[in-house]
Amino acid sequence: MITQAVRQILTAVGEDPDRPGLVETPDRVARMYAEVFSSLEDREFKDYKIFDSDHDQDEIVLVKDIPFYSMCEHHLLPFFGTVSVAYIPKDGKIIGLSKIPRLVDFVSHKPTLQENITAEIAQTLDHILKPAGVAVIVKARHMCMEMRGVKKTNSQTRTTYYSGAFKTPQTRQDLMLQLQAV
Ligand SMILES: [Zn+2]
Repeated sequence: MITQAVRQILTAVGEDPDRPGLVETPDRVARMYAEVFSSLEDREFKDYKIFDSDHDQDEIVLVKDIPFYSMCEHHLLPFFGTVSVAYIPKDGKIIGLSKIPRLVDFVSHKPTLQENITAEIAQTLDHILKPAGVAVIVKARHMCMEMRGVKKTNSQTRTTYYSGAFKTPQTRQDLMLQLQAV
């Protein structure tokens, strides 16, 4: 289906989908879409495990600058950048650190918006981990801004989501210091 649709788009923009350089393009795009939109098959994030920490930790856990790649739902063009995720455990509940980049991938692999990615990461962690607070900071470049219209190349868009303890200025300040230190 995607293969056919890509052929139609190529024809519609005035290309010849049968010329040598393009013959395999519709198949290739179809395989690529299966990968970059893989989260559409699985609506719920299940790839995680919650552990009980040995000590009652209540310090900020921070995973900084996780790279992500996604597709803007308004233009189907890539936007990409980094995500920093912080949480403060409650009742000794912690999540395997490797699962946080998996969650970032999970929310990114569908047509979406930077604001949604930011909120979904935070809300999923709030839901599965029930921590004292979550902070998510996303910085991204958007090809739909840079390739078209006003060409503001290299401009970064920053979005944030804070829940629980991170709504207080003191905790927010602790986080900012840690973000600079790591
Ligand atoms: Zn866009």
